[in-house]
Amino acid sequence: MKTNLNQLSKEELILFLQSLGQKPYRVNQIINWIYKKNTTSFDDMTDLSKDFRERLQTAAFISNPVLLKREVSKDGTQKFLFELEDGETIESVLIPNNRGDDCFTLCISSQVGCASGCKFCMTGRLGLKRNLKAHEIVDQVIAVKRFISQISEIPGMLSLKPEGKTDKITNIVFMGMGEPFNNFNEVSHALSILTELVGFSKRSITVSTSGIVPSIYKLAEINPVANLAISLNATTDEIRNRIMPINKKYPLKKLIKACREFPLPPTRRITFEYVLLGEINDTREDAQRLVNLLIGIKSKVNLIPFNPFFNSSEFKQPTESKTQEFQNLLKKAGLTVIIRKSMGADISAACGQLKATYQVIK
Ligand code: SF4
Repeated sequence: MKTNLNQLSKEELILFLQSLGQKPYRVNQIINWIYKKNTTSFDDMTDLSKDFRERLQTAAFISNPVLLKREVSKDGTQKFLFELEDGETIESVLIPNNRGDDCFTLCISSQVGCASGCKFCMTGRLGLKRNLKAHEIVDQVIAVKRFISQISEIPGMLSLKPEGKTDKITNIVFMGMGEPFNNFNEVSHALSILTELVGFSKRSITVSTSGIVPSIYKLAEINPVANLAISLNATTDEIRNRIMPINKKYPLKKLIKACREFPLPPTRRITFEYVLLGEINDTREDAQRLVNLLIGIKSKVNLIPFNPFFNSSEFKQPTESKTQEFQNLLKKAGLTVIIRKSMGADISAACGQLKATYQVIK
């Protein structure tokens, strides 16, 4: 059976190359081709001898998900629908940073579907189909990088200069389909590949959880440690149980305790995501309770007005004045808080809207 080079750590790659009779230093050439030049063909690796390339061809392959569909939002956000080796589909979302610097954040998936069942999330309604392998997580990044580098201009987006400015993804967020901490080992392996081989810094990667408390402690132990984001969304167990069933297993008190104990490097904070659901969690009392929960935690709060999706009529968007009032109350209490303008809502690429549409249509 051929070996997929994308699933190997650097050490494993060296061992594999040695098994083909190659010296360890060759590993840097291979890493450069796969992760910097984003190639999937050994024929392109022109600084390797013909004989070596033929051996690689016989013994290995470089995985590459099939891009089934790409949609571009009027705000420049792009949604990529990928087909995996077994025919399952996942989505990744490329979001312009809008700082005029031609840079993007890539939101990636960690599972096909999700078992967490958050009521305000389309992915949660799909249920879990399976976990992604580490290489399927990393391949989303490489495939989108490759896509960006192959075009000189994306309709509706900033123009991308082909020469020397093709590597535009500056941040990775695990906020696509799936609960990353329900797939901890593969996510952790993917984090190692992204930092050690692809070249992202630890601080440029954020893992978001619905609140799997034991995995928050586990993340703190592994190296590298990514940024932590908590999808919080409620300030009482009663409401959180209702909209996020995971809270019945790991209630707010345990979750906030784990956050307090998370070892943050000096300049880092925990991000708390708070989807504002009209007349459910957007009152002045909610804002005050949120302040009380977060006191003493180095944090920032992202307020996300709910994005409606098909069959989500039990929830409604908060009014603009409620959203503003909520933000003001948090700010007044000294919290860092931004209202996250939803990107890509018109192509169902905004928070909570991912569902790998192609599969539903089929
Ligand atoms: S919000 Fe995240 S954890 Fe919750 S159901 Fe959706 S994908 Fe899963």
